[in-house]
Amino acid sequence: MKQEEGYLQRCLECDSLVEVAKNRKNQTACCPNCEEVLQSGGKWSLRRCAIIALSIVILLPFALYLPLMNIDLLGVDIYASVWGGVWKMATNGYHYTAFMILFCSIIMPFAFASLVLLIRVQRWIGYRPRYSLILLSRSKQWVMLDVYLVALVVAAYKIREYATLEFDYYIIAFILTALLTTLLFIKINPRQWWEDFYPEYYPLEKDHQGRATLCAECEYTFDENIVDEKGRHRCPRCESNLEVSDKVKLQRVWATLIAGVIMMIPANILPISATELAGKTSADSLMGGVLLFLSLGSYTVAAIVFIASIAVPFSKVAVIFYLLLAIHFRWKHSIHWQMKLLHYVHFVGRWSMLDLFVLALMMSLLERGQIISFSVGDAAFYFGMAVFLTMISSSNLDARMLWQIHREHQQPREKPSDTSGSI
Ligand SMILES: [Zn+2]
Ligand SMILES: [Zn+2]
Repeated sequence: MKQEEGYLQRCLECDSLVEVAKNRKNQTACCPNCEEVLQSGGKWSLRRCAIIALSIVILLPFALYLPLMNIDLLGVDIYASVWGGVWKMATNGYHYTAFMILFCSIIMPFAFASLVLLIRVQRWIGYRPRYSLILLSRSKQWVMLDVYLVALVVAAYKIREYATLEFDYYIIAFILTALLTTLLFIKINPRQWWEDFYPEYYPLEKDHQGRATLCAECEYTFDENIVDEKGRHRCPRCESNLEVSDKVKLQRVWATLIAGVIMMIPANILPISATELAGKTSADSLMGGVLLFLSLGSYTVAAIVFIASIAVPFSKVAVIFYLLLAIHFRWKHSIHWQMKLLHYVHFVGRWSMLDLFVLALMMSLLERGQIISFSVGDAAFYFGMAVFLTMISSSNLDARMLWQIHREHQQPREKPSDTSGSI
């Protein structure tokens, strides 16, 4: 990037001010400080993404409604589908738990693909998709078809203990939808779309005087002195409020984390499922389920269930707690280690929902009460709530706060330079 024209962009993760080369739209630019991607190459155009989104919207009803697998119980075929699992759970009195599954496996995938389509339609009619773009970035982590796909495999393993199980051909529709959604995840480029729809908001020139600030919502870097008509500090492009102080953000993280921890207590104590086999009812807690699989010799399933429903939620809470304390007490620990931990909680957050998806599938197959009857327990709701709350908690945890502390430790007497926190 030596002699080339460049523009200024603040890094979303470490808040460094970086010069990115212009006219290199198809190449990836990384932050030299923290390696966060500032501009990604290999993304698709809105048109191509809309075609994928349209295929998802068409396939989704089939993927969600058609049977994924079936078992033969005393000559009666019983089918399980995504919708069937949600419905079974809701009609058995677990409305809130059923809603959580509905939200992540049906509502959000549909909303996500529809938003991409809507943005394409808005380009046709010349409408500016401010809210659609904001919602698109926010909805991403709640689309959990990939998690559901793994849940199908785990449920199949579990049910094989009780009955002969077969996958239906229709499962292809579901697998295809899950793969297309993942492809869309990787290929959408909201950063570019913001620039295309709002071309009048130029990126900052490299010789810009004055402090640059970043809007975390639309990733627009602009001059700090820009305010709206009422004098409020708002992003000129997406109009989101930038006046939220670090203190308020930290309070949000604490509040959701503490609520999540409280939910984890009943989630681990109460039974998460009840199995009635040959007249005998056994209620299993999360740990009980793992021990059961160990005693049956299914070590792989035991490991998957243990990691997804016990190791991940607890380690996630511990990591968020540690990062919060590191911010409060301004600990001088390795920032790269802290970033690795933060990326870990962001990545694993959604995967804990696996357990609830497995429960829904098992319930739709085994809730008959002939030889075996299976039902979810009260812990399922608390478990789901704990997953949701810790996901919100980690998404509110701003990496820039940790970097700011790191920089203050590095240059204790100097005034914060260009690369200090902007909010
Ligand atoms: Zn960075
Ligand atoms: Zn913005």
